[in-house]
Amino acid sequence: MFSWMGKEDSRKNQDVYDSVSQGLQNIYKQKLLPIEKEYNFHDFHSPALDDPDFDARPMVMLVGQYSTGKTTFIRYLLEQDFPGIRIGPEPTTDRFIAVMHADQEGVIPGNALVVDPKKQFRPLSKFGNAFLNRFQCSQTSSAVLKGISIVDTPGILSGEKQRTDRGYDFIGVLEWFAERVDRILLLFDAHKLDISDEFKRSIEALRGHDDKIRIVLNKADMVDHQQLMRVYGALMWSLGKVLGTPEVARVYIGSFWDQPLRYDINRRLFEAEEQDLFADLQSLPRNAALRKLNDLIKRARLAKVHAYIIAALRKDMPSMFGKESKKKDLIKNLDALYGQIQREHQISPGDFPDLKKMQESLVHQDFTKFKAIDKRLLDKVDKMLAEDIAKLMAMIPMEEKVKLSEGSDRIEGGAFDGVMDKATPFMFKGGEGVDAGRGEVEWVIAKDQGKYDQIFDSLSPVDGKVTGAAAKGEMVRSKLPNNVLGKIWKLADIDKDGMLDSEEFALAMHLMNIKLDGHDLPTELPPHLIPPSKRGF
Ligand code: MG
Ligand code: CA
Repeated sequence: MFSWMGKEDSRKNQDVYDSVSQGLQNIYKQKLLPIEKEYNFHDFHSPALDDPDFDARPMVMLVGQYSTGKTTFIRYLLEQDFPGIRIGPEPTTDRFIAVMHADQEGVIPGNALVVDPKKQFRPLSKFGNAFLNRFQCSQTSSAVLKGISIVDTPGILSGEKQRTDRGYDFIGVLEWFAERVDRILLLFDAHKLDISDEFKRSIEALRGHDDKIRIVLNKADMVDHQQLMRVYGALMWSLGKVLGTPEVARVYIGSFWDQPLRYDINRRLFEAEEQDLFADLQSLPRNAALRKLNDLIKRARLAKVHAYIIAALRKDMPSMFGKESKKKDLIKNLDALYGQIQREHQISPGDFPDLKKMQESLVHQDFTKFKAIDKRLLDKVDKMLAEDIAKLMAMIPMEEKVKLSEGSDRIEGGAFDGVMDKATPFMFKGGEGVDAGRGEVEWVIAKDQGKYDQIFDSLSPVDGKVTGAAAKGEMVRSKLPNNVLGKIWKLADIDKDGMLDSEEFALAMHLMNIKLDGHDLPTELPPHLIPPSKRGF
């Protein structure tokens, strides 16, 4: 119904999206970057943002122990291989692989990736050669990858194996990605749920990004119903401990590959979960602009606090003698300084950088080169937070409006077509409820007509019809609420004469059963539910 509107809308969204990114890029360079540079923000917290940080497609990172099906999950989403794909029971993915769209297939090695100004990976060079040899971009042509990029990660080892040294700061790399991606899918294997120390440390590294984490309890078809319940409980319990938050991230239970299900008793659950997970991923392109906006706000608040800290440290340094011992003193008493800045500028403690990390970074800094407070730079940031951000926020279309559009802000292709598609009987809840009998020549209710006629006759019809008063008693016995029954009555009285004939009555009974089976009622009667004698009304 809204298809013409949808097209129009999605084009608009595309414009908005582009200009929100562009707008963020501009205000960052003009209003935030200067204060970051003035107070060496990049040495302490994170490097300066490049253009690709604003333009890049939303990224999804997969993290899990080896053989939890990370790489298989990607192949399942894309419904195709990507260059350099390796799948097997042993740890097969020994590297970080950014799977991205390009018309030409190919692999770009890590060393080349970190000097490519068009990609967002330049800061990764700090993790050194041992890492760069274990990092690559696999490019392939895929509709799904036009909507999102996906990061495959090395399988995390368990038991004895986890002692093999990777030769680079694995957790550090994970943290780097966690800060930049839009979703983190944590994969667990339902029939091998052990959480190794390295995995625990990895999950801990993701703390602070809880809002991005979704849990996938994969291979859930490998265990029977009872085992699955037990595994689910155990998983929730361990996650609660490791993540250290009272509410644990959403867990999606399923079997994300294209092989037959071993135990298919939970097939329906898996399908429902898959729908939810895909809908969640589907929201990423839309939410990317909002996420970038949020990240920039967080960054701006940190940059302000950072400026206060650095300026205060400089102010307390002696001009002549005892510089080194004063520096040591200041680092040691940093928490007192935090308290003082909190009170003076009414900043919440949550906006302050981690105390320990800050102390460690300060050791290597020359305090005498720190700059004094520059009110002009701070005003710029405040103005950005108060005015520019609000303007950009208003440009992001409201969720409700976006829902109408079915255009380029959606992920298409691969498994997204099969799972979200409404056109086959194998879609979620396909061929059920209102859709039962869709496309068949015979009236779907005809086979139950005899049964419904018996009830109909017991209501003493006059001239082959029952009145509302006569039908009411029978319909109320369903215990369905009156508003639902009213809707059913309206749908069933096709000729709108205020009474139901035997066919209309059968239709009303059929609609009641649809509702009682837990399906939704249609807003309009689909053709296959209309008795042949009344088609054309
Ligand atoms: Mg793998
Ligand atoms: Ca009627």
